[in-house]
Amino acid sequence: MIQLQQIQKIYQSGRQQIAALRDISLHIRPGEIFGIIGHSGAGKSTLIRSINLLERPTSGKVIVDGIDMTALSYSKLQEERRAIGMIFQHFNLLSSLTVKENIAFPLRLAKQPKERVERRVQELLGLVGLEAHAASYPAQLSGGQKQRVGIARALATEPKVLLCDEATSALDPQTTQSILSLLLEINRRLGITIVLITHEMQVIRSICDRVAVIDGGLIVEEGAVADVFLKPQHPTTRDFVAQASDAADAAVYASSGPGGRTRVRITFLGEQTYEPVLYDTTREMNVPFAILQGTISQLKQIPYGQLVIELHAAGAEADKTIAALQSRGLDVEVLR
Ligand code: ADP
Repeated sequence: MIQLQQIQKIYQSGRQQIAALRDISLHIRPGEIFGIIGHSGAGKSTLIRSINLLERPTSGKVIVDGIDMTALSYSKLQEERRAIGMIFQHFNLLSSLTVKENIAFPLRLAKQPKERVERRVQELLGLVGLEAHAASYPAQLSGGQKQRVGIARALATEPKVLLCDEATSALDPQTTQSILSLLLEINRRLGITIVLITHEMQVIRSICDRVAVIDGGLIVEEGAVADVFLKPQHPTTRDFVAQASDAADAAVYASSGPGGRTRVRITFLGEQTYEPVLYDTTREMNVPFAILQGTISQLKQIPYGQLVIELHAAGAEADKTIAALQSRGLDVEVLR
């Protein structure tokens, strides 16, 4: 749905050049929720804004639904942008307009007939649950309600893609969850491709299918959320995972256990999470174990668990137990 090909963005700041994006290539698939995570200054904003060309890349191509956005004339670009909605951290609502008028705004710009605008606005108010606030002004709304207006406005022209620029960063955790649930529902019901940027792994974990980690204008890691979350490779990714993980206790991983024992981390995903495979296997092998740390949580709607255990076995006996666990589908990693 979206292809970014070798995107570079260099800002000129006085006599200084700042390379915000160095060489970014990404392929975002139709219908997925794709997250981009990075620390402040990593290039997230520049990256998401280059998808609708709010920031024009210095070099590289942006292809959205088969159309090379970078090659369009100004008027053609305006037209194609209607297929890409966007929501913002600070909502960017027009304070002098009511909720209804804010939502209708892009439809009026697109010169849609009055009755159609009216009908569409009612639909959108229903979708985001703001029917009772149609005549309110933004200043009368909570942060979560303002973002709902932002979402309704972004969806007004029936876009194929929704870009979310730190859309929950100004919201408290509970409101964040309700907005994330709404985005997930919109993705499911309308099939819209969603791209979001965030500095919170929790946001990625709640709703994204795939994730890219950006650092210093480069993608340093990319993949399915479950893979990246459970097996982070790059130090920046590990930082983010530790931030969101209930099991992040560096001390357990840092120290090695006493002799004759072997520490392993076991990852369960999906239905496995609830099966007694570990218990059954270690009992059969007659190898006792102690649990050092454990967590069960959710990745999007998939349950997962991670356990750090100490097998009371070493050498060939430990290897045999680990092989038996692996043969039953568990992901086992030896910690040294
Ligand atoms: P993030 O969204 O991850 O915080 P940004 O994309 O905003 O990162 O910024 C990436 C880098 O580009 C930073 O070093 C930032 O200072 C710089 N930058 C962003 N916008 C501009 C601009 N308009 N002019 C000059 N430098 C900019």
